[in-house]
Amino acid sequence: MLKDQDRIFTNLYGMHDRTLAGAKARGHWDGTAKLIQMGRDSIIENMKASGLRGRGGAGFPTGLKWSFMPKESDGRPAYLVINADESEPGTCKDREIMRHDPHTLIEGALIASFAMNAHTSYIYIRGEYIREREALQAAIDECYDAGLLGKNAAGSGWDFDLFLHHGAGAYICGEETALIESLEGKKGMPRMKPPFPAGAGLYGCPTTVNNVESIAVVPTILRRGPEWFAGFGRPNNAGTKIFGISGHVNNPCVVEEEMSISFEELIEKHCGGIRGGWDNLLAVIPGGSSVPCVRGENMRDAVMDFDALRDVGSSLGTAAVIVMDKQTDIIKAIWRLSKFYKHESCGQCTPCREGTGWMMRVMDRLVRGEAEIEEIDMLFDVTKQVEGHTICALGDASAWPIQGLIKNFREEIEDRIKANKTGRMGAMAAE
Ligand code: SF4
Repeated sequence: MLKDQDRIFTNLYGMHDRTLAGAKARGHWDGTAKLIQMGRDSIIENMKASGLRGRGGAGFPTGLKWSFMPKESDGRPAYLVINADESEPGTCKDREIMRHDPHTLIEGALIASFAMNAHTSYIYIRGEYIREREALQAAIDECYDAGLLGKNAAGSGWDFDLFLHHGAGAYICGEETALIESLEGKKGMPRMKPPFPAGAGLYGCPTTVNNVESIAVVPTILRRGPEWFAGFGRPNNAGTKIFGISGHVNNPCVVEEEMSISFEELIEKHCGGIRGGWDNLLAVIPGGSSVPCVRGENMRDAVMDFDALRDVGSSLGTAAVIVMDKQTDIIKAIWRLSKFYKHESCGQCTPCREGTGWMMRVMDRLVRGEAEIEEIDMLFDVTKQVEGHTICALGDASAWPIQGLIKNFREEIEDRIKANKTGRMGAMAAE
């Protein structure tokens, strides 16, 4: 279990002072200019050595991503864009950083921007996060007043401006190129890649898009050293991580823990156990709504990191852990996610635009058992035709929950179809 002295986010629950004075008292903004004077290459090398993998879902190594930015400017400015669109169902970790510990993010933005030669950074925040936006803007204003942002930011010799931009409620704007389009004032529709943002991103200039948590951990990693951060978790899965646990646990919570903690320990130590006990656990979605669900009995011993969750057929994603007990209608739960993805598809590519609606309609019939057994395979086949055949990952995100359902709960789907055919549905619904 992570010790208190190893927590990066010391005000995750808002129990302490979130202003600049409070943040400084907790060790933030301490020697920021010195960290910047380490130099660009050294900062990037330190980030690589820390083993930090992006906290937005894909888990791409952060230091490596930064190194894709051009070393010398060809005349175009470079930008850091911070993805604070957090709209994945189940995910609610970045909001705690922004409303309670905003200075971790602002200091991280300054250091990361310097490392990528960017004098300007934008934070794109989810439109519904109104209180978070207010807290973050207040913290940014404080930093300008204190000389931590603006000309010669924090006395580092680096001029740096940070802008907070509000989204308007579209899930797809969490996709990095859709976010860039939206930031430019256009419709939030993903772009084809390549070119990748590091070559041509915001306003056609070199851009890196990073998640809030990925940036907010940077100052502490540099202050305490990459070895310290790399000392948590298993190899290739380093660091501390914010988990957000929701659903049928006794105490749903957001908590910073060591990466590679076991699922059982996470739930027992922080969530007061599964509602009704471990025998009552049906399924878990371990990484936000777009990753496949895992049967409860396969989850109990699972290790919560990128590689281990891949081994159980799922993914760490955003570490938004959705726990479902045996009272859950798992088919209906996954149908609800299908409905979400159908609603959020931007409609640019045919497999996603048509496929999400088609899958949702079949899922709707499966909920009621009004389908043929053969349609289960047909549905699986369609998810495979959507997956990997679209411009952005929303296609995959809509396919994976259904694939997880069919792989893990095929029997339940078949039982419901049979029950409907034999008129036992009423009895099943009452169960
Ligand atoms: Fe839009 Fe879906 Fe295509 Fe992504 S996969 S670009 S959301 S239609």
